[in-house]
Amino acid sequence: MSALFPTYAKWDVKALKGEGALLIDEHGKQYLDFVSGIAVCNLGHCHPKVNEALKAQVDTLWHASNLFHLEGQEQVAQLLTEQSVGDYVFFCNSGAEANEAAIKLARKATGKHKMVSLTNSFHGRTLGSMSATGQDKIHQGFGPLLSEFTYVPLNDSAALKEAVTEETAAVFVEVVQGEGGVRLMNQEYADALAALCKEMNCLLIIDEIQTGIGRTGTRFAHEQYQLSPDIITLAKGLGNGFPVGAVIGKAHLKSSFEAGSHGSTFGGNPLAMAAAKAVLDEVFQDSFLQDVKVKGQLFLTQLEEALKDCDLIEEVRGLGLMVGIECKEEVASLIQACREKGLLILQAGPKVIRILPPLIATKEQLQQAVDIIKEVMAEKLVINGAQIQ
Ligand SMILES: *Cc1c(COP(=O)(O)O)cnc(C)c1O
Repeated sequence: MSALFPTYAKWDVKALKGEGALLIDEHGKQYLDFVSGIAVCNLGHCHPKVNEALKAQVDTLWHASNLFHLEGQEQVAQLLTEQSVGDYVFFCNSGAEANEAAIKLARKATGKHKMVSLTNSFHGRTLGSMSATGQDKIHQGFGPLLSEFTYVPLNDSAALKEAVTEETAAVFVEVVQGEGGVRLMNQEYADALAALCKEMNCLLIIDEIQTGIGRTGTRFAHEQYQLSPDIITLAKGLGNGFPVGAVIGKAHLKSSFEAGSHGSTFGGNPLAMAAAKAVLDEVFQDSFLQDVKVKGQLFLTQLEEALKDCDLIEEVRGLGLMVGIECKEEVASLIQACREKGLLILQAGPKVIRILPPLIATKEQLQQAVDIIKEVMAEKLVINGAQIQ
């Protein structure tokens, strides 16, 4: 019996310990962890540099509050703004909080409140971020939502054009939809989006909570589409498992977040900043990002090759080390079969397998995952074949 609210459909695995790309359960069974805490542990579990930074901070200062100047906040904000199109940073503790802050900032800066986001998007579970999320199943039972959101399908420029007006405060997008099925924005749409925001004088908010911090082979995924968002939201990979979120905004937004306008008791906590600084020092190196790009391309090619004759597969797609396998049938049993063979992967909707290897995964580990997935698909085909007979 558990005293937890059953909000999560949990796997039958007790996670006890993590080492790099491996997760170890209570029986000592080792799993190749290609879930990475849902795109969080990008540097793998217990990365030595992050651990060292956090241990040093534990003995120095845990918390003082935002009444004080905190060196860690300045350093992380400096790194994030030097390496992005933004100029100022607000720290919070999670993705949903970052998106809430982005919604508030966009309202304040524009004096408008209508926003456009995408169907199949995911932006979080608080009232504002849930309203931004274009999925009915997330809304069920929690209405009324913020009625100011209009949802349009990804890669449909005409629908976007129709939805965005001069009353629109902001367009809110992921450039690769994560929870929504690893769906990539195309370049034509990105160009139309940028032009439209400019024409209608509305803000572009890009949710990089899952795609940011090197996941797609660049610091932020939007770099690969030549987009220049007014606001970027971050969380997941930023602390490698230590809870931390951030909003990066362009200079013209500075006066909208003046003293007293927004805040968070824990936001920018020294422990979170120590973890984030260690992460950024590692991930934002060109050589590290280049390696992610190379491994991402290799992984995608190997998966395509291994699954090219497999009748279960609709499409293999991805960017960097964020990969989706869209299948013709529901994938829960395939994911379970992989888990039994020691590979942890996850779902993104009923028919899409989502694979989020830690960015430090070796080529051998990526190959190992491809082999397990191929084996599981082949066994599934045999079972399906047997059922037909
Ligand atoms: C996970 C996620 C969120 C929500 O982050 P939380 O930390 O769970 O609140 C928002 N947007 C995207 C794209 C995500 O992947």
